[in-house]
Amino acid sequence: MSFYNEIEKFKDFDMEKYMDELTHEEIKRSIKKDKLTKFDFLNLLSPKAKDHLEEMAKIAQRRSIQQFGKIISLYIPMYISNYCTNECTYCGFNKNNKIDRKHLKLNEIEAEAVEIAKTGIRHILLLTGEAEGLVGVGYIEDAVKILKKHFDSVVVEIYPLETEEYRRLGKIGVDGLTIYQEVYDEKIYKSVHLGGKKSDYMWRLETPERGAKAGLRSINIGTLFGLGNLVEEAYLSGLHAKYLTDKYLNSEFSISLPRINDAEGGYKSKYILDDASFVQFVLAYRLFLPKAGINISTREVAEFRDNLIGLGVTKFSAGSKTNVGAYSDLEKSTPQFEISDNRSVEETEKAIKARGYQVVHKDWELIV
Ligand code: SF4
Repeated sequence: MSFYNEIEKFKDFDMEKYMDELTHEEIKRSIKKDKLTKFDFLNLLSPKAKDHLEEMAKIAQRRSIQQFGKIISLYIPMYISNYCTNECTYCGFNKNNKIDRKHLKLNEIEAEAVEIAKTGIRHILLLTGEAEGLVGVGYIEDAVKILKKHFDSVVVEIYPLETEEYRRLGKIGVDGLTIYQEVYDEKIYKSVHLGGKKSDYMWRLETPERGAKAGLRSINIGTLFGLGNLVEEAYLSGLHAKYLTDKYLNSEFSISLPRINDAEGGYKSKYILDDASFVQFVLAYRLFLPKAGINISTREVAEFRDNLIGLGVTKFSAGSKTNVGAYSDLEKSTPQFEISDNRSVEETEKAIKARGYQVVHKDWELIV
């Protein structure tokens, strides 16, 4: 039994007919429920639910404050290698792109860590392209040991690992995993992952479970909006988070809503998630998954991110750079995608505080 069974069931579901027959009364009932079923969740994602955003926002805000308080946690991403053996059509690091590639040595990782730590951030997200030969688990371990000297929480966003490998990382202080399915629609998945290990749909889909089985405390998932049908992808990613939350009680799950930004390779998105739908999806996630974190990255512009504070989001990246070695000005490399919110950590913090929310730098420390 895996989440794939849920996806299989969904394949026979007539979404168009369901949305046509859905009434505003049914949507209103779904909004008011304390515990939403998966059909309630779908109702909130429906185009008709756009007429009920105000009501959804009020409840989402109340539930978020009850569960989390008025806080936004901050983290910063650090890219340590942009070599990749995969061919994702939407990504600047695609192995076929002629870009400036860089792979940090351990002393360079330390230099980056020192620079980032000066911002006051205590949670770091460590990212690499997927090139196992160059960026083996041993290299990741060495990097983590350096980062643990400077940060309280280290989360990895790297190629999918085996459970035992996640356990190895957990033992040296990695407390979380970020892994996006990118697109839950299997046919589209195959059409945008043209080569390399990432083209194995099931291997990727079951990665969050392997992380949870290895005992990682925090696991962040999501779909990359722009690759597949928007409502279907929002629905399946929400169901995935619910499936994981119900099955793995020792881990905390959160969900992200990355939208495709311009990248090397010129990928043009067919499905555009507009701002109103983005807000609607945040609210629907919050009501369906009351305990899940909701994570908004610097892919979004500053003003839009600020307006989401109070609607259910719990985590922001800040001061992000998506090129390798960028924080300590090492030699040039190409970014993975364009950042939209270019504010410094300090500026981001000011904006959060101006909304009456508290900035959390540290909510976790592993005692070993
Ligand atoms: S999305 Fe990840 S796996 Fe795909 S090309 Fe980019 S870095 Fe490589």
